[in-house]
Amino acid sequence: MKTQWIDELSQRVPLSRQPQDLQTYGRDWTRVYVPRPSAVVFPRHADEVCEVLSFCSEHGIAVVPSGGRTGLSAGAVAAEGELVLSLERLRHLGEVDPFGLTLTVGSGITNHETHVHAEHLGLTWPVDLASKGSCQVGGNLATNAGGIRVLRYGHARHWVTGLQVALMNGTLLNLGNAVQKDNVGPDLRQLMIGSEGILGVITQATLRLTLLPTDRQVLFLAVDGMETGLELLRHARIQGRFQLQAFEFMGRNCLEAVMKVGGVPSPFGGGELPPAAVLIEVEGRLDGDLDRWLEDVLNQKLVRDGLVAKSSGDMSRLWAYRDNITESLGRLGLMHKNDISVEVGRLAEFVHVLEKEVAPAFPGELYLFGHLGDGNLHVNVMKPSATDPEEFWDGCHVADMQLYELLHKVGGSVSAEHGIGLLKKSALRFSRGTAEVAAMRAVKKALDPQGLLNPGKVFDLG
Ligand SMILES: Cc1cc2nc3c(=O)[nH]c(=O)nc-3n(C[C@H](O)[C@H](O)[C@H](O)COP(=O)(O)OP(=O)(O)OC[C@H]3O[C@@H](n4cnc5c(N)ncnc54)[C@H](O)[C@@H]3O)c2cc1C
Repeated sequence: MKTQWIDELSQRVPLSRQPQDLQTYGRDWTRVYVPRPSAVVFPRHADEVCEVLSFCSEHGIAVVPSGGRTGLSAGAVAAEGELVLSLERLRHLGEVDPFGLTLTVGSGITNHETHVHAEHLGLTWPVDLASKGSCQVGGNLATNAGGIRVLRYGHARHWVTGLQVALMNGTLLNLGNAVQKDNVGPDLRQLMIGSEGILGVITQATLRLTLLPTDRQVLFLAVDGMETGLELLRHARIQGRFQLQAFEFMGRNCLEAVMKVGGVPSPFGGGELPPAAVLIEVEGRLDGDLDRWLEDVLNQKLVRDGLVAKSSGDMSRLWAYRDNITESLGRLGLMHKNDISVEVGRLAEFVHVLEKEVAPAFPGELYLFGHLGDGNLHVNVMKPSATDPEEFWDGCHVADMQLYELLHKVGGSVSAEHGIGLLKKSALRFSRGTAEVAAMRAVKKALDPQGLLNPGKVFDLG
């Protein structure tokens, strides 16, 4: 009886029940939940997505939308026998519109593919993540992805003019197109962006493009810690006569992890590693401005040591120290992750309290890195090899509450970029009030009355 609907659905849309596919497509980058989907479907176009959703509505089957599965909050996890709806075959890649600077793509196109596609015209979709080779446009929009260039361009939601979304009842909504100015009633497109697949399934997007910066400079600077890193940021913003593209921070142990896993030497040569490092990317022709700024911060002893990339190869090599942190930590052990943000100017004060009062509560060493320019810090905790995983997760969840209390106190966010998914549900109340969550539930109920689309993610229906 249980497989009857699966057989029926497989007559309509490509479907797999191979154990390897169930394992692969039943989860994202988080390793906390055991994947247990009933099957995986691979619709080839929007009409097939609608057909799957309408079929599932009729048969009361829960569905998990799945993109590149690089999510870090278990939003794409199917641990309760749900049907996984993979969007990877929605691979339409349109022509760049040279007038409006837009590009229409299927939601299964990867982030990196959009970059490559627009590059020859000197354009880019400025949403840029270390997971770009695998994460998809649909996933980027469903999570309102941030990344390394938020400081300059903002989140993914700013770079979309149109969205096509399939609702759980099988209706296809066309929310805007390539028209730039369109103020007609509430913006459902923005409601869908960042909704983590609980309101609708994104099948296509029209993306806004911008000019690729022609001149870039990358600096990798050794600093004493968060406080000096922030002072450097303030200095760059006020005294520096340049446009920042990225301002990233990593603690010493993150740098060590990248060196160990990648087998690469210290960027600073021999000797002891500094307590922390920042990677700065700036754009534009600088005519000595950057050199003067660097001299100034060296004289003020804000920087211990530094490197300026001399070639594009150098830039990639320096960026790799930042881009490879998440993957390297994942290879070294089991990580508990938090992705938080506070007002940039309060970050040093926040980290001071975090290290003094909250860190001792976590059952493992803290690894801090992130997008310093946005006040966004990834607070990762590594499981000690001798600790039992269950005991580790339990300890982390207890300590998390202290972290969230602290965030609540300083008006910070429990999820800067990664979303809530399954993993951070208990954190939601520290950043969103009861009335706000009730309004979210009302929207969910209106669009998905049976609660079948990505059930249990973000909040329970209650
Ligand atoms: C190494 C690494 C670095 C990362 N760096 C960043 C970073 O800097 N900034 C950042 O924001 N994130 C980062 N992430 C997290 C992740 O890459 C992003 O959240 C990304 O946007 C997820 O896209 P995805 O296609 O992999 O989505 P998935 O993981 O497949 O899904 C994410 C969520 O979106 C839903 N979803 C997916 N596709 C659709 C669709 N078409 N329609 C509706 N819902 C959908 C899923 O149900 C799930 O809830 C990083 C991850 C890794 C592994």
